[in-house]
Amino acid sequence: TAPARDRLRIAIQKSGRLAEPARSLLTACGLSWRQSRDKLFCYGESLPVDLLLVRDDDIPGLIADGVCDFGIVGRNELDEQGAARRRIGLPDAYQALRGLNFGQCRLMLAVPEEWDWQGVQQLAGKRIATSYPAILADWLAERGVDAQVVELSGSVEIAPRLGTADLICDLVSSGATLAANQLKPVETLLESEAVLAGPVKTPDDARAGLMAMLLRRLDGVVKLQDSKLLMFRAELDRVSELARLLPDADPLVQLPDDGGHLRLQTMCHGALTWQRLEELERAGAQGLMVLSVERSLA
Ligand code: ATP
Ligand code: MG
Repeated sequence: TAPARDRLRIAIQKSGRLAEPARSLLTACGLSWRQSRDKLFCYGESLPVDLLLVRDDDIPGLIADGVCDFGIVGRNELDEQGAARRRIGLPDAYQALRGLNFGQCRLMLAVPEEWDWQGVQQLAGKRIATSYPAILADWLAERGVDAQVVELSGSVEIAPRLGTADLICDLVSSGATLAANQLKPVETLLESEAVLAGPVKTPDDARAGLMAMLLRRLDGVVKLQDSKLLMFRAELDRVSELARLLPDADPLVQLPDDGGHLRLQTMCHGALTWQRLEELERAGAQGLMVLSVERSLA
């Protein structure tokens, strides 16, 4: 087991798709650091929480070894290394604690456009290029399909053209890369997003309190993304219809009333466009007000 520490360490990607959003998220949780962003180590100033800037591939291992307490990494990377550990009989050493609502993508099978896709049984005897060999091998095994997994560390999408594989298993977000390589997605193995990863067992020293505090702040920040406080007045007989128009909001809360009208407020977690406000107005809401929420401890 790793030695006790009184400062928390969080590993995030140094550069790449998750680097900037991970940093902004932690900043929104009230963290700040002394070092510039291109350094490997950032010393926490506002709280004893330091950052390690690394390649995303290294993050699960840093948590497993107890070098870092938390990491922000794609579920794809975490699951792949978890599946690889399980394949060689190692115990689980980390877990996804929270989905973070960014870095969305899918791990998909993609075949040459001219294939007439009939289903997984078509994969028998085929060669599949991927950077996710453990997830793919588990997925194939669950379906009883005997295909060959060809592990590549990058440029997976050109493997079919090069003749090194028949199809691929890779991350897809818009699908533009697949289309540019005359491939089409046919099966989803994993829906991924950036997650906060942590150890299976919380350390029993000063870090435990810091970890709990950070999780609480993170929940506040993630929950508030896209959330607004909505306030309005209405007649009592309009309230149920207005509530029906707000399926993405918390239950309406009644404030002390104001000369006959009810005054109501709610936290709405979906977009409140002008069009929606006009619709609410037609249904009897008056004096509609949409307010941004800076911080909240739910
Ligand atoms: P590093 O140098 O840190 O190893 P990388 O090249 O492995 O970087 P990025 O391309 O920056 O990683 O992707 C990081 C993560 O972003 C992926 O693991 C995945 O979770 C997420 N992601 C979101 N959309 C995509 C996409 N279209 N392609 C690849 N990754 C994506
Ligand atoms: Mg990587």
